[in-house]
Amino acid sequence: MMGEGGTPLIHALNLGKMLGLENLYIKDERQGPTNSFKDRQASLAVTAWKEAGIREAVLASTGNVAIAYSAYAARAGIKLWAFLTSLVPAEKMREVAVYGTQVVKVTATYDQAKTIAYEFAKQRNLHFERGSRSIPSVEAMKTLAYEIVEDLGLFLGQNNPEVNQSDGLDSEWIAPDWYLQSVSGGLGPQGVQKGFSELFEMGLIKKVPAIAGIQTEGCAPMVHAFQRDQSIAEAVVSPRTHIATLSTGDPGFTYTLLLTRMRESADLGKCNFPGGGIFEAVSDEEAYRTMHMLAKLEGLSVEPASAVAFAGLIKLVRDRIIKQNDVVVVNCTGHTMSIETDILGDNWAKNLVVSAKVFEEQPEEGILSALSAATFEKFPRVLVVDDTSDARRLIVRILKSQGDYILFEAENGGEAIQKALKEAPDLIILDLMMPEVDGFMVLDALKNDPRTSNIPVIVVTAKDLTRAEKARLQGRIHALMEKGNFLDSNEDGENDLSSQIREILK
Ligand SMILES: *Cc1c(COP(=O)(O)O)cnc(C)c1O
Repeated sequence: MMGEGGTPLIHALNLGKMLGLENLYIKDERQGPTNSFKDRQASLAVTAWKEAGIREAVLASTGNVAIAYSAYAARAGIKLWAFLTSLVPAEKMREVAVYGTQVVKVTATYDQAKTIAYEFAKQRNLHFERGSRSIPSVEAMKTLAYEIVEDLGLFLGQNNPEVNQSDGLDSEWIAPDWYLQSVSGGLGPQGVQKGFSELFEMGLIKKVPAIAGIQTEGCAPMVHAFQRDQSIAEAVVSPRTHIATLSTGDPGFTYTLLLTRMRESADLGKCNFPGGGIFEAVSDEEAYRTMHMLAKLEGLSVEPASAVAFAGLIKLVRDRIIKQNDVVVVNCTGHTMSIETDILGDNWAKNLVVSAKVFEEQPEEGILSALSAATFEKFPRVLVVDDTSDARRLIVRILKSQGDYILFEAENGGEAIQKALKEAPDLIILDLMMPEVDGFMVLDALKNDPRTSNIPVIVVTAKDLTRAEKARLQGRIHALMEKGNFLDSNEDGENDLSSQIREILK
């Protein structure tokens, strides 16, 4: 009706490199008419309303459902009432209202708002949108599965040894190993899982992906139930999260249904992962940090609720639940607007005030001198030493995504020693295995010169070190990290190259 569905599947090369995942894909649902995968659901559900002659309807929403249904209801000429909790960001509430929907702000939890909306609909004898109990809503989400297998076939089909060119299909359809989504009510994964299962049953794909449902720690009823091996989720009565989209405290029957379907697909050998998937929780803070990193690494600005899924991805890779060779698809939605102030702070722009007088007097020099007078803060200086440009570029990218570092690069030991003297870095990230002057020799040279002997060094290495090599490093370096595993924990429980660096530069 309005261009819903058919969103691009984006190969996340940079984030994938950082996580060591070659086949990480992002289903970019931001590109739907109202920027979330709720457009699929709204399109089909409102069409069904229209066919059924419904003229006025009621729903409760954590934000995105109300926005999507408002747009489609407006087009269909159906009057809509949206009950939103006061947690929903003001920007989203206004967007709902713009479409002509009657917004009812409820100062209560989402579950309570839902009950009030239901009572209201019953009293007035209006249609009530029942979310995961509404057939069109669930069925619409199957299209996500259809598009994913089609696009993965295009990405992976040609080089894939499993491709059977003689089966009469133009291109093979390929299911991912994992489908990740942040989960609130659970309608998305319920429909997507159904879509994959039906494709499997029709013989169109060879496996059903494992589902990873990610919730916020402050509202994780599914995760709690899953970890306790319970098939009924106990409601979280007072959700504690700033991420309103994910504040369904009581998923009710949907969790049970989803879990049953996931287990069944594993038991019947359709899904290769035990139990058919996993539920995991991350903190709001982890989500915000991941959101900023994703924007800087991939150029994708997503809403906090989607960042929860990416934070979950990082956790599952670290815990080695998602393996390096797995094909992974993450559902991505929304926009950062509502929390940009939180992640950027106050100093995100440099103010440059040029008076009209300066312009008149010295047109060009005036602007230049004003520019050079603008004070830029001093950022920590980091020297990255590695003989392969790919490895240097990866480290540089990771650092750039996490802070405003001033970065220097050296491609061999000799250059490293020179730049350490010339640039006086606050920190050196050093590759050990380089031809001619190797990392050990660089360390010796740095230690022997009083101008460089106090610069902290993080050593990165591609191989396991011998006992003798480890002994040589003892006391001379700050940390040892394995290449390709910058996100793994070391013995101190520290994880993440950038947190190591922040620690050192404090
Ligand atoms: C709706 C929504 C969710 C939660 O999806 P459910 O399938 O309803 O659990 C997660 N993230 C975003 C951005 C959403 O809009």
